[in-house]
Amino acid sequence: MEKGEIMKLPEDTLLLSKNGAEIPIGDSAAPIIDDQENVIGAVLVFWDMTEQRKVREQLSYQAFHDALTGLPNRLLFIDRLTQAIERLKRHQDTRFAVLFLDLDRFKLVNDSLGHPIGDQLLIAIAARLEGCLRASDTIARLGGDEFAILLEDIQDVSDACRAAERIIQELNVPFNLDAQQVFTTVSIGIVLGFSHHDQVEDLLRNADIAMYRAKALGKARYEVFDAIMHAQAKALLQLENDLRRAMDNCEFEVYYQPIISLSTNKLIGFEALVRWRHPKRGLISPAEFIPIAEETGLILEIDLWVLQEACYQTQLWQQQFANFNQPLTISVNLSSKHFTRSDLVEQILQVLEETGLNASSLKLEITETVIIDNPESATTILAQLKALGIGLSIDDFGTGYSSLSYLHRFPFDIMKIDRFFINRLDKESESLEIVRTIMMLAQNLSMVVIAEGVETSEQLNKLQELRCEYAQGYFFAPPLSQDAAESLIMRDHQ
Ligand code: C2E
Ligand code: CA
Ligand code: CA
Repeated sequence: MEKGEIMKLPEDTLLLSKNGAEIPIGDSAAPIIDDQENVIGAVLVFWDMTEQRKVREQLSYQAFHDALTGLPNRLLFIDRLTQAIERLKRHQDTRFAVLFLDLDRFKLVNDSLGHPIGDQLLIAIAARLEGCLRASDTIARLGGDEFAILLEDIQDVSDACRAAERIIQELNVPFNLDAQQVFTTVSIGIVLGFSHHDQVEDLLRNADIAMYRAKALGKARYEVFDAIMHAQAKALLQLENDLRRAMDNCEFEVYYQPIISLSTNKLIGFEALVRWRHPKRGLISPAEFIPIAEETGLILEIDLWVLQEACYQTQLWQQQFANFNQPLTISVNLSSKHFTRSDLVEQILQVLEETGLNASSLKLEITETVIIDNPESATTILAQLKALGIGLSIDDFGTGYSSLSYLHRFPFDIMKIDRFFINRLDKESESLEIVRTIMMLAQNLSMVVIAEGVETSEQLNKLQELRCEYAQGYFFAPPLSQDAAESLIMRDHQ
């Protein structure tokens, strides 16, 4: 040992005590030097590190495991997946599979039976999953009701499919929780890993895409990620990127669909509907890009832009056609995504101030999902909007979960009956009864009704018999460009 040198034992050194117990120790050492500055010995100090070691192990365990189920968490799963990809470098003929599991209707369990039962269910599911897989497979809880499984050393995709079938079967048996029988099913997406060029994010994303396909095809089943899904995923990614640029490139336009009073046959206002003029693909329907915009959060910007544009235009029309009986109204769609933000009311107020439109000329269209997803914040926000004098419409009524019990708790003024029912008015007597019932409900709640998607004179006649007040649909006009809408106002105005 040199002078001044501190000798250290390797980390995690164990001390074997007389009774054979292993004690983790820490140590430090310092040389003993005589007056000629020669090293003549050393002082070694050891101490018991059992407690520190425990804390350290616990912390690292917590960082890599899910507290509720004790399963590996996303971090650990990603780590194992990375290692599995690494191993493919050395063993090119092996394969692994990632299974992405999402419980069907877990929210329903939580909402109806309470969170404690929801938690118990997740724990019980974790145990069942462990029971039906090999010890070498990694089962992780990624969050909420999402689980992921890594199956290593499999021959081909059929091994993964068999595992998925086993899981679906196992979970088919009801759970006994707190003296209640709880039923649940699961949808599974499978992706196969066979190249060391695979990327962790891609594998997880593709398994997720396959899982969504399983849900779309009826739930309680599995789907394997394939070339078609790959092409679709690529197109979707492209669309997502294009959508991000669309806002900066001013590729959006607002179209206006007339809303007609059935008692006077006059135009009372418009619904603003966004259009995307894609530089290569032409006009893209909102049905295609709104869901993507919602997923990426871009919907917040898009909706505010539409609001600004539509309010400004309506205010111009109101000035231009000032001798209208009633000022033209404008209905603007608001995605449920806005209702998790606290500055929504302020933003809307700002648009009204900037465009000079009167609050009473603006109607906001909201679907039932808003109330179902964010009941608390929706209550506050809707009350604030109402207090400003803005009209509130419940959109696509009849298609959602329609728990009628909530309706009276929210200050809606307008009910828009979904075109699904209006379309069948002239074909099925059942639809007529449904529309009649919805109209009675609206009347009891002091709401006015707008029928959506009126396409034929027969449908219009039925609606008039039912004394429906307002309607919109291709029978009157499709959504129109700004110029075409203006011509229509002029004609209506004469
Ligand atoms: P929505 O709010 O229910 O809008 C009505 C949809 O029905 C529009 O489709 C309209 O063109 C279509 N429609 C109108 N009359 C008829 C008819 O007689 N027959 C049929 N078959 N269809 C009719 P569009 O413009 O493609 O919009 C689809 C959906 O996209 C809208 O449904 C709305 O949920 C959403 N959306 C549109 N613009 C916006 C927007 O600015 N913001 C948000 N958040 N969503 C929007
Ligand atoms: Ca609407
Ligand atoms: Ca609608």
